[in-house]
Amino acid sequence: EAKAQGRGIYSFYTQALTRSARVRMEMEADLRRGLVREEFRLNFQPVVDLANGRIAGAEALVRWQSPVHGLVLPNRFIPLAEETGLIEPLGDWVLEEACQQMAKWTAAGADLDFIAVNLSPRQFQRGTLCERIEEVLRRTGLPAARLEVEITENVLFGAVAAERKLRDMRDSGVRIALDDFGTGYSSLAYLKRFPISKLKIDRSFVHDLPRAADAEIATAIISIARALGLDVVAEGIEAPEQCAFLKERGCGFGQGYLFGRPVTSERFLRLALQGPIATAMAHPGSPRLH
Ligand code: C2E
Ligand code: MG
Ligand code: MG
Ligand code: MG
Repeated sequence: EAKAQGRGIYSFYTQALTRSARVRMEMEADLRRGLVREEFRLNFQPVVDLANGRIAGAEALVRWQSPVHGLVLPNRFIPLAEETGLIEPLGDWVLEEACQQMAKWTAAGADLDFIAVNLSPRQFQRGTLCERIEEVLRRTGLPAARLEVEITENVLFGAVAAERKLRDMRDSGVRIALDDFGTGYSSLAYLKRFPISKLKIDRSFVHDLPRAADAEIATAIISIARALGLDVVAEGIEAPEQCAFLKERGCGFGQGYLFGRPVTSERFLRLALQGPIATAMAHPGSPRLH
């Protein structure tokens, strides 16, 4: 009887596994079709100079407008794209589209320092990454110094020839930002070894500012960045108090819903042409420290 029951459970699990494998395969097929049918879009979120509210640049964030699944955010499809290798054509598209939009905004009179593009581990591991970036810059006419690539610490962890690749990128003029800083396999040795230009403080350390451990962690990251001559951006700023605290501690740049959500290219251009963002300058009383 126990045996029969065991078999029952076993077949329950196989069915569940089969179902989840099928859902995955369908999703993969949908992604593949989505690429061909051009269902992907980029949104752009402003990165603001906290000293004066100026929009310094934009981060490109991919969205999938699927006829089957509706609007899908990257956390729901980037991991699958990464596993299946679809991230390679998708990433190529993102890079080209982002550079193209940046070149367009500049031609339309927007004064922006950079467009930031996220790279996932598999894209970074590709042997042809640097050539691909150079090709896209050539095609779009965007100066290398205007492109910033965002990688996470985990990308560097154990990546073959990571140092070489980053140096090649850096030598070509492209800037490198460490995204979600402090949440990965962090090693301060990375900051010494790799040609990083910018640290992005993960939004999990911004959330509770100016209270609690977040205040200490954010302050420490800002100090490290400043001591090493790196730019520092705080992600996920939603409240004036968070902004005031970060400014007071010497954080140069900020990104978050307080300044602007990710928007279409057209809306981003309008925003960029409007000038400084007032909420970055507001003083909600003096920030309460500790
Ligand atoms: P990320 O690079 O850390 O991007 C920041 C994420 O935080 C974005 O989520 C953005 O919409 C969100 N965010 C910005 N400000 C705020 C805020 O004030 N509050 C809150 N709660 N969230 C905020 P999104 O667009 O859903 O992207 C999630 C992640 O997906 C990104 O995290 C990035 O790792 C990945 N991703 C997005 N686009 C691409 C892409 O083109 N290629 C690759 N490889 N990964 C991408
Ligand atoms: Mg990012
Ligand atoms: Mg980030
Ligand atoms: Mg993040």
